[in-house]
Amino acid sequence: ILRNSRMEQTVEMKQQGIKAGATVLIVGGEGQMGRFFSDLFRASGYIVRTLSEKNWNDVASLCKDADLVLLSVPIHVTLETIQRIAPHISPTTILADLTSIKTAPVDAMLKYFTGPVIGLHPLFGPSCATLDKQIIAVTPGRDNGKCRWLVEQLSLWGAIMVNAEPEEHDDIMDIVQALRHFATFCFGQFLCRKKVNLARSLEFSSPIYRLELGMVGRLFAQDSSLYSEIIFATPSRRKLLKQYVAAMNEQIELVESNDKTLFMERFSEVTQWFGDFGNQAMRESDFIINKLIERF
Ligand code: NAD
Repeated sequence: ILRNSRMEQTVEMKQQGIKAGATVLIVGGEGQMGRFFSDLFRASGYIVRTLSEKNWNDVASLCKDADLVLLSVPIHVTLETIQRIAPHISPTTILADLTSIKTAPVDAMLKYFTGPVIGLHPLFGPSCATLDKQIIAVTPGRDNGKCRWLVEQLSLWGAIMVNAEPEEHDDIMDIVQALRHFATFCFGQFLCRKKVNLARSLEFSSPIYRLELGMVGRLFAQDSSLYSEIIFATPSRRKLLKQYVAAMNEQIELVESNDKTLFMERFSEVTQWFGDFGNQAMRESDFIINKLIERF
């Protein structure tokens, strides 16, 4: 009930933009995240312009008098887009981006643009109904004070803003996104290769298998290009994924030797390393499992 009433409040607050009337140019504004943020800004009284591949000829007039230029283009064109648009943006405008990696885009924004810069990474997809309780990573670039209204606006829409340096953000995302999605991809691909009868397996499913399959199925129901961009975004990510595959290979010896003692040794090493999080994980996953049982 509390959450619903907060969400209703958040919806109402949409009407009162902190800088209502300001002009926001969204580059890639017809894409998924671009449309999500256009709707939010428009609903709060901002003037929203969009720049797509089709209207680059109008870039100068679209940038003119903009209070914020928000980049929401695919990762692989982000750096060239920053370089291309920066000369058209006034140094009083905020330049921000939504890219899922932060070091290279923030460096490029600082290099090619002299005004206020802020890096953002929404940790959710465009299918969310509202920003309520959704996390947005914030990596400051330049002139934090001038960027404050944007951060406050996102908070007012209900987002939880988490600050990080771009490098720290990227290191964490190597694990939270690249490794997680890649491991899910590998599992799904293996099920596919083994031609597992999914429907029949779900009939016999333990709650945790249903939950796991929900995560895996969810990945393959989405846009493969988005995930390929995230998973293979940087050389450090690709290196990490190779280490992961190599580490999986090391477990073959365990299977071949049928060494249960060694398995248990490795298991307890990880249990100790997880420490208190183990209990938290039990509580949280029990909660979700019980919800799932209520539902199905
Ligand atoms: P998308 O492909 O749906 O949208 C990108 C848009 O940019 C498209 O409309 C495309 O036509 C346009 N575009 C491509 N090149 C362009 C150019 N040179 N000039 C202008 N427009 C151009 O992608 P998306 O999922 O909306 O992702 C956009 C950004 O948001 C990416 O940086 C991504 O990392 C980030 N992001 C996405 C999600 C998500 O779940 N989709 C979540 C967090 C962050």
